[in-house]
Amino acid sequence: MIVKMQKSATLENYESLVKFLKDKGFEVKDVSSENVRIFGVIGDTASIEPRDLYAFEGVSEVIRIQTPFKKASRSFNPNDTIIKINDKIEIGGNQTIVMAGPCSVESYEQLKTIAESVKASGANILRGGAFKPRTSPYSFQGLGIEGLKLLRQVADELDMAVVSEIPSVDMLDVFEQYVDIIQVGARNMQNFHLLKALGTSNKPILLKRGLSSTIEEWLMSAEYILNGGNENVILCERGIRTFETFTRNTLDISSVLAIKELSHLPIIIDPSHAAGRWQMIEKLSLASLAVGADGLIIEVHHKPEEALSDGAQSLKPEKFTHLMNELITMSKVLGKVIG
Ligand code: PEP
Ligand code: MN
Repeated sequence: MIVKMQKSATLENYESLVKFLKDKGFEVKDVSSENVRIFGVIGDTASIEPRDLYAFEGVSEVIRIQTPFKKASRSFNPNDTIIKINDKIEIGGNQTIVMAGPCSVESYEQLKTIAESVKASGANILRGGAFKPRTSPYSFQGLGIEGLKLLRQVADELDMAVVSEIPSVDMLDVFEQYVDIIQVGARNMQNFHLLKALGTSNKPILLKRGLSSTIEEWLMSAEYILNGGNENVILCERGIRTFETFTRNTLDISSVLAIKELSHLPIIIDPSHAAGRWQMIEKLSLASLAVGADGLIIEVHHKPEEALSDGAQSLKPEKFTHLMNELITMSKVLGKVIG
């Protein structure tokens, strides 16, 4: 971290800041010139918030050099993290992971029909919401624990793994019982209380990017989970809020490249919530793989017009099969296999 003092700063201003930093265990390296007083703060500066130093009189500028996240950073672990879900599925390695299923679990028949079709097309992870975060309290809220039980039952019948979104900390025990991957929804990305609790879980966590979160904020949320001791975090880009209204969100495809540079964690893309339109899913999925994503999470419904949530962005099974065939071809080109 570099600190530049104002021209008008007094020696006392400088000395009191240096004392504060030294008392905290940092080394201070002065590199002042005749015209400007400037110094480097050396040590583990992740614990300092640059803004806080402006509380000291005479501070002109504070610049962070190190990233504020440590365990999530590429420098902490230069090798890609590979997360093993079961004997068949590894996320972050040589497989292109496809998670697919309905937005919401609606009934056994609905879930089984969709799960059978996505499994037959090559997806090994079943997605489905049981606790739905809806903008309106009058919209379908999900089947709750009953939905989780259906996910587990259908996944076991088809030899699939399950991913589902946790609504709150009090549900952690139940989620650990029924799902293989715990999803943190975009709206909960900065629910730090929840993130801390997930840090103690032995289940992999799928951490969605918040609606208006920067990449740094997203990685800081991952840091909460890693810092709690859970090393299995999968990031999920699901589009961010912009001024554009044609699509539901704007898919920030470059975040894959940013994450690959900054972090060792795997990243998948959710084109369904990004675009909000089923017509765009295939091309966005191919683009996701081309840019280096480790996988995809895609909404599928056999009767999208009757879906209780997100029908407009759900692919019909035959469209999903077509997409999977494209993904298989593309994966081969990339030297990967569909997992
Ligand atoms: C979902 O995956 O069903 C969902 C609600 O996604 P997001 O949190 O990205 O909006
Ligand atoms: Mn949805």
